[in-house]
Amino acid sequence: MDAKGQNIHEVVKNLTQAYLRDGTWSAVGRKFGITAGTAHRIVMRGYEPKSAHIRAKLGLPVFLLAPACPVCGSVHTTKRCTKRRIKSHVTLLDIPVSDLRWMLEHREDVINGN
Ligand SMILES: [Zn+2]
Repeated sequence: MDAKGQNIHEVVKNLTQAYLRDGTWSAVGRKFGITAGTAHRIVMRGYEPKSAHIRAKLGLPVFLLAPACPVCGSVHTTKRCTKRRIKSHVTLLDIPVSDLRWMLEHREDVINGN
């Protein structure tokens, strides 16, 4: 039943089908190895479990810690923030030469507001 790499919508569908078949959340919980409360929250309240052991039992991919981008707060799979917008070269001229040199030496992007 627990094919790896399910998404939360498939899990909700599976839990809902189990509930319709078995009639109680505790039966659903036993079947999936989670508590009745967790099964109920997932289906009825749109809760997505975060803990690795519950996610593994439900066939959901496990969350790992990743640093949030200091600029936008998102997690990027690229090294650079994908939400930043590079300012036009006109405003590049407004940056003092000493700052520009420092940015180039430190491989910083010339960015809006930074
Ligand atoms: Zn970002």
